[in-house]
Amino acid sequence: MTATGKVYLIGAGPGDPELLTIKALKRIGEAQVVIYDRLVGQGVRDLIPEGAERIEAFERSAGQEEINELIARNAREGKRVVRLKGGDPFLFGRGGEEVQFLIQRGIEFEVVPGLTSALSVPALAGIPLTHRMLSSSVTILTGQRACEREINWKALVDLEGTIVVLMGVQNLRKNMEGLENAGLDPQTPAVLIERGSLEGQRTLASTIKELPDLAERERAIPPAVVVVGEVVRLGYR
Ligand code: SAH
Repeated sequence: MTATGKVYLIGAGPGDPELLTIKALKRIGEAQVVIYDRLVGQGVRDLIPEGAERIEAFERSAGQEEINELIARNAREGKRVVRLKGGDPFLFGRGGEEVQFLIQRGIEFEVVPGLTSALSVPALAGIPLTHRMLSSSVTILTGQRACEREINWKALVDLEGTIVVLMGVQNLRKNMEGLENAGLDPQTPAVLIERGSLEGQRTLASTIKELPDLAERERAIPPAVVVVGEVVRLGYR
C-alpha cells in the first residue's frame, strides 16, 4: 500500500473571505495543493499559503473527468489536497460527482460545507427568503438548462413560495416567461443580485414581467442570484 493523501472538498461561500467557515480557513491554511474553480473570489484565493501549489480548474476549461484525475493524482502523491468551490460544494457545484469518484477510488476525503449563494446573497441584499406572512417555502433551481419541459413551472407556482434561481442570467427571459405562462402574476416582485458579497454588489429590483428588460438595459452579468416572490418587497438594497 502506498500512502495516500486526503482531499478536502470545501465550500468557499459567495466570495467575501470573511464568509468562509473557520474550518474552511484552517484547511486552506494547511493545504499543499489547492484546486479551485472560477467562482472562488480573489479574496479567498489570497488565503492560499505561499508554499501551496494552486491550480485553477473548472469544468468548462477542463473536463470533469480531467479534474477528477487531477485531484486523485495529487492525493495519491500523499498530499493534502484542497478542492475549493464557490458557495456550498454540493449545490450545483458537481461536488457530488467528485465525491462519488473519490469513493470509487478509495481516496479519503472530508467535506466542509460552505455558505451557499442561494441563501446568503439574498440575505446580503436584505431579502428574507421566508416570512411568516408572505412565504413558507423556498425552491432553489438552476436557470441554465431550464426549458418548459425540464422544470415544472406549474408545480413551482402552485407552491406559492419563494423561488431562487442560480445560473439564471442567460435564460432570465425564458425563465420569467415560464413562470408567467404557468400562471404567476406578472407583477410578482423579482430581483437580480449580482456579485453578492463582492465589491460592486448590485441589486436590480423589478417584477417578473420587467426584470429581463431591466437586466438587459443594465447589462447584468453572472454570477447573479434571481429571487422571485413577495418577500422581495422587503429587501433594503
Ligand atoms: N455551489 C454554488 C453554486 C454554483 S452554480 C453555491 O452554493 O453558491 C453558480 C451560480 O451560483 C452562479 O451562476 C450564481 O447564480 C450563483 N453565485 C455564486 N456566487 C455568487 C455571488 N457571489 N453572487 C451572486 N451569485 C452567485
